[in-house]
Amino acid sequence: MKRAVVAGGAGFIGSHLCEYLLSKDISVVCIDNLLTGKIENIEHLIKKSKHFKFVEHDISEPIKITGKIDYILDFASPASPVDYLKFPIETLKVGSIGVYNTLNLTKDKNAVFIIASTSEVYGDPLVHPQNEAYWGNVNPIGIRSVYDEAKRFAEAITMAYYRVYKLDTKIVRIFNTFGPKMQLQDGRVVPNFIYQALKGESITVYGNGTQTRSFCYVSDLVDGIYKLLISNSHEPVNLGNPTEMTILEFAKAIKKLTNSKSEIVFKDLPQDDPKQRKPDISRAKKMLGWQPQITLEEGLKYTISWFQEKLKTKNANL
Ligand code: UDP
Repeated sequence: MKRAVVAGGAGFIGSHLCEYLLSKDISVVCIDNLLTGKIENIEHLIKKSKHFKFVEHDISEPIKITGKIDYILDFASPASPVDYLKFPIETLKVGSIGVYNTLNLTKDKNAVFIIASTSEVYGDPLVHPQNEAYWGNVNPIGIRSVYDEAKRFAEAITMAYYRVYKLDTKIVRIFNTFGPKMQLQDGRVVPNFIYQALKGESITVYGNGTQTRSFCYVSDLVDGIYKLLISNSHEPVNLGNPTEMTILEFAKAIKKLTNSKSEIVFKDLPQDDPKQRKPDISRAKKMLGWQPQITLEEGLKYTISWFQEKLKTKNANL
């Protein structure tokens, strides 16, 4: 049986990855310090799967794991703008020292490595849609830089380990992703709007809502990550859904799908909020034969029902 380490395995994407790997008969060691990850995301795996092991640990501290490891997936980092602004130093540390530690573990174990990078490496992009050849437009000292620059460093050190030690490394640039297990109030637009619409609260559009995003359903993303993990690629690969819409259109779509009477209100636009974002996924299509299968509407329906269930349970983690 192959064995994988998933750093950040109790997070939104990390926990979906743990489930996916187990479904492929790969045993999983999940490492998470639970700063933004939640034990409830993996509780069912801890209880039910003998091939799943949880280790509470901060990967910014040295990592020791005995036995062979075939794959190391580094998905450890706060990822919501609200979270990384709340934990700026932790975000910088996990994207730098943390990745240094997971890469050294990869070297010791002669494993295959994948780092979760992000569309944020493109900053407020001047090229649209964004392809992997674009170097980005990031404010190095702005409030978002703790995440953007940490991820740019993470890509740089990954490529250095690939070149110097000939490690088998992969870089996935993840665009906006949504689905079950997002925290109801992690501050990102998808949970915010769904939560507000379901509770009948005002839907808060930042700025005038003309900024664009493209949203990918999590099962599509995880499928793409696995395809990349087992591929021969070493260059960064964008994964995301190229269906682009404005945030105001998105607010209206959520209102309609939830039959909500919430009003849409406008709030200040956060500093350095990217004006437009849409992945060019030609590379993923060509190299991995991957493209999203779930439409935005379908994905939102699944996510809304999941949030409805969550809101019903007494211990909803609000
Ligand atoms: N946004 C918004 N209302 C909210 C939360 C976010 O209008 O309640 C906007 C935010 O300013 C950004 C977009 O939605 O333009 C996506 O924000 P998110 O925090 O989900 O992630 P980002 O793509 O900025 O990393």
